[in-house]
Amino acid sequence: MQLTILGNWGPYPNAGGACSGYLFEGEGIKILIDCGNGTLSRLQQRLTTLEELDLIILSHLHSDHISDAMILRYAVGINKMKGLFHKTIPLYAPATPEEDFQKLQYENAFVLQPIDENLVIYEKGLKICFRKMDHPVEAYAVAIENDEKKFVFSADTRYCSQLVDFSKNADLLLCEAGVLERDKATTTPHLSALEAGQIATQAQVKKLVLTHFWPGYHLQEVLEEARNAYDGELILSEEMQSYEL
Ligand SMILES: [Zn+2]
Ligand SMILES: [Zn+2]
Repeated sequence: MQLTILGNWGPYPNAGGACSGYLFEGEGIKILIDCGNGTLSRLQQRLTTLEELDLIILSHLHSDHISDAMILRYAVGINKMKGLFHKTIPLYAPATPEEDFQKLQYENAFVLQPIDENLVIYEKGLKICFRKMDHPVEAYAVAIENDEKKFVFSADTRYCSQLVDFSKNADLLLCEAGVLERDKATTTPHLSALEAGQIATQAQVKKLVLTHFWPGYHLQEVLEEARNAYDGELILSEEMQSYEL
């Protein structure tokens, strides 16, 4: 299993960067997780054709996670009308805000399916499940596992015990670190880098990959803050880099 970072900034990118988007590849399966602005172009650098995608998962409907889904729907929908796209890709996303959920569809581009905590997807030997996080809109962490490996993506969230529980013994936790402790207010709907480290320690995660960086931060500072709480394998994600599970 391999994870490629298409974009790792939020809630807007730095110059030349892209927002949240990740390509997860397992045995005979390619899953796009989040589709923030700038990620569709990069996704196409990694695929021969968009038809290679088997599944799309959007963790939540904030713009930095779905902007390019608004044009991916054109790419798929229009090519379908032209008879140039033959696959029907399931797109899983939270059903709220409802208006945003409905907007994801265009000319039957996708099979739109709502995410909830009871949803379990079995595909190509993988089990995919979801856990609701603490964020201003309905947001779900995503776990993808087989008999050997477990991958978890935090989505966006405040610190919550659900994420610790859901990440237990993950081989790789891709975790947002949207703020530094010094910038965190009680209203901040994101994890600090320190909290990402704490969650990884509490969940006994084998590898912690940080993402969702605020443009303008010195990323070394983000890394060092997480390091104060986690002494396992710790990685600052880099755009267009791939990480093995
Ligand atoms: Zn975000
Ligand atoms: Zn968000």
